[in-house]
Amino acid sequence: MIYASCKAMLKHKNPDWHPEQPDRIAYIWEAVKNIFGKNAITIIERKAKKEELYLAHSREYINYLFSIKGSVDLDYETFFSEHTLDAVLSAAGICLELIEHIIQGTYTKGFALVRPPGHHAAYGRAMGYCIVNNMAVAVHKALAMGLERIAVIDWDVHHGNGTQEIFFETDAVYFIDIHQANLFPENSGNTDETGRNKGKGFTLNIPVPADKDGNYYLDIMDTVVYPILRRFSPHLLCISSGFDALKGDSEGAMRLTPTDYRELTRKVCLWADELCEGKLLMILEGGYYIPSVSEALCAIFKNRKEGL
Ligand SMILES: [Zn+2]
Repeated sequence: MIYASCKAMLKHKNPDWHPEQPDRIAYIWEAVKNIFGKNAITIIERKAKKEELYLAHSREYINYLFSIKGSVDLDYETFFSEHTLDAVLSAAGICLELIEHIIQGTYTKGFALVRPPGHHAAYGRAMGYCIVNNMAVAVHKALAMGLERIAVIDWDVHHGNGTQEIFFETDAVYFIDIHQANLFPENSGNTDETGRNKGKGFTLNIPVPADKDGNYYLDIMDTVVYPILRRFSPHLLCISSGFDALKGDSEGAMRLTPTDYRELTRKVCLWADELCEGKLLMILEGGYYIPSVSEALCAIFKNRKEGL
């Protein structure tokens, strides 16, 4: 797995009270470098182009983001200021660069360590700290490059409503979301949201009661997710990897440990090897208990010993 990031994303500022801070990336970076060496994280400095963002978002919305001068509150907790555009273009750019390499075969697995997160960003609007939907941009790029079936698993503790909305009417993307029931966004991620038109049956929501541990998640992965993936037979597996299901995270009430995240990641690496020639893209979403997120990333990194 290639782990990629860049410094432009550190410049996107949120108010001091806000949980989504540059330190989320800076701490991961430091922790991984200290244990695994300074080349452990690949720096990718690529900015997504407007046309690449139009794949997943409306032209009106993207043009609006490019037109903002100064600071704007996109919603009550999603803020846009001087360096935000640079940061979101860099985050999406890293995901695009990874997906191109994965499809072209330079390497098969990539993990985009990016911020701000993306999975609440919908077709035409920002939401919940998310401005551009990095996953949707990358998946649309993969479709444009000729892949026909892509599976997206979102295990952030919140429902990935933006990603769901963007792929709700297609049978080319199977979207599976495991999230804490009745959390943010309100009235989102229910089991009766299963897709529309051609996409009917290609969205699966798995709301989980609060206070569950890693074994609960691993069991869902084995008994529910894996059989679907076998049937769907994807050409690419993508993971919206939020770390806010970690025990102690202020935004959720789950009890996963860093080792659980290592196991979840190990599992999807092996499934990608079995089902889609190893092709796996992972993208950082939420995760706000910074020491634990860094520890989880370091735990996942150890999978490299097994060639994963
Ligand atoms: Zn989240």
